[in-house]
Amino acid sequence: MLKTFVFLGAPGAGKGTIAELLCAKYGQVHIATGDLLRAEKASGSPLGQQASEYMVKGLLVPDELVVTLLTNKLASPEVKARGFVLDGFPRTLNQAQLLQRELDKDGLKVDLVVLFEVDRDLLLRRLTARRLCKVCGAIHNMMFTPPKVENVCDSCGGALYQRSDDTLETAINRLGVYEQETGPVINWYEQSGQLRRITGALEKHANFAVFCQEYGLE
Ligand SMILES: [Zn+2]
Repeated sequence: MLKTFVFLGAPGAGKGTIAELLCAKYGQVHIATGDLLRAEKASGSPLGQQASEYMVKGLLVPDELVVTLLTNKLASPEVKARGFVLDGFPRTLNQAQLLQRELDKDGLKVDLVVLFEVDRDLLLRRLTARRLCKVCGAIHNMMFTPPKVENVCDSCGGALYQRSDDTLETAINRLGVYEQETGPVINWYEQSGQLRRITGALEKHANFAVFCQEYGLE
């Protein structure tokens, strides 16, 4: 059975959700680099301390350091036994090439590199769907859990608003950054013959079912 995955896709493509469903069902370790960095920092390890120096200054942790942490994790007995889903990494070509080099060095391999594809209109709708209540903080999603009365909180009757992170402008920016940074990663995996494409456009459980069927997971 396929055990090790790299998941690629735009913000809003649903790769994190599919990663969660996959790991819950088949037991792989779900690895997102943000979580990994925070855990390493909390552990107080030398590499974690090194990463923390960048993080406290609000700087990006250098790719070499992230890839070292990552390959240490992938080579750990737990992850070797259970497999992994790498969610949202590599984001840039440099990261992809560094990761490949380290995986080769450690004799680790990725069974499947999957790109979740969702058209731009749907991505934008998903990324801008969230509304928060000014009074109680309840989260409503205009696609999945729209309020019964427009712009009014179902729980308390307070007014709903859109966070600045969720506006159309921010969403367009995020997609632009993704295309610029990760476009070359997709081309690179494609040219090496590793890339598989699958839809991310369905509802999450339907999408997961398609995923399992496509890749022979039962
Ligand atoms: Zn409310």
